[in-house]
Amino acid sequence: MPHNGFVSLVGAGPGDIDHVTLGALKALQTAQALLYDALVSEDILSLAPQRCVKICVGKRGDRLSVSQDKTNALMVRLAQKGLQVVRLKGGDPSVFGRVEEERLYLEQHGIDHKTLPGVTAASAAAAQFSFPLTHRGEARSVTFLTGRTKDGAIDLRHESLNDPMASLVFYMSSHNAAHIESSLLKAGRSKQTPVVIIENAGRPEGQMRTGALDDLARLVDHAAFSGPVLLGVGSAFGYARQTLVQRQVLPVATRSGMR
Ligand code: SAH
Repeated sequence: MPHNGFVSLVGAGPGDIDHVTLGALKALQTAQALLYDALVSEDILSLAPQRCVKICVGKRGDRLSVSQDKTNALMVRLAQKGLQVVRLKGGDPSVFGRVEEERLYLEQHGIDHKTLPGVTAASAAAAQFSFPLTHRGEARSVTFLTGRTKDGAIDLRHESLNDPMASLVFYMSSHNAAHIESSLLKAGRSKQTPVVIIENAGRPEGQMRTGALDDLARLVDHAAFSGPVLLGVGSAFGYARQTLVQRQVLPVATRSGMR
């Protein structure tokens, strides 16, 4: 049956509307069906027309609201009806976003698609808390890793682990902080390696905790997180600071523990 349905796989950025690209805005404004992740905020969803069908297919950690298979099937079904479908993902679709699984499924079903990038959480965190991810002479690479794999195991055999010039950013990993700390120390990273723990990066309520690698698990344990969390390990994170905007919104007690 002929149809002109199309799927745009769009990055929404880490939550704040200011991080939505003009490309994403245009795709949202012309969307007829919107399938969105749990991490996408209300004000971003409201950029889509009122008559647009909006379905949350989001996942937060282990809590699956809609399985990946169902999301794939839904995208295809809506596109086969001839609709302009936007599959809206938190951050950048190409970073821990399962985008390739969705593209392959669309192709198997003959659905045209395009991908629009977004600001990944690590970039938003770096801007918000004024640290570089790479820094000349100190941090020559940045690696995005995850503490969560398909089968639930964590695999930290990676050559950048023991390179003191590598910045490591862990996504979906706050539950594995103790394992990350011990693996990195075992791999030869110095105990004093700076670490940052950033919750709700890129949003007004963004919070940062800083410390050293041998304190990572304790710092994570003492925090009661309600939003998404990134862990950063490496010398570049030693430059992290509260920006003027952050200083104005954070209470004094929170600030005193920070560098
Ligand atoms: N595609 C997304 C990542 C999806 S994986 C991106 O590019 O950012 C989900 C994980 O991303 C979360 O468990 C958390 O580790 C991280 N994350 C997403 N948004 C975040 C935010 N605003 N602040 C901190 N971490 C975030």
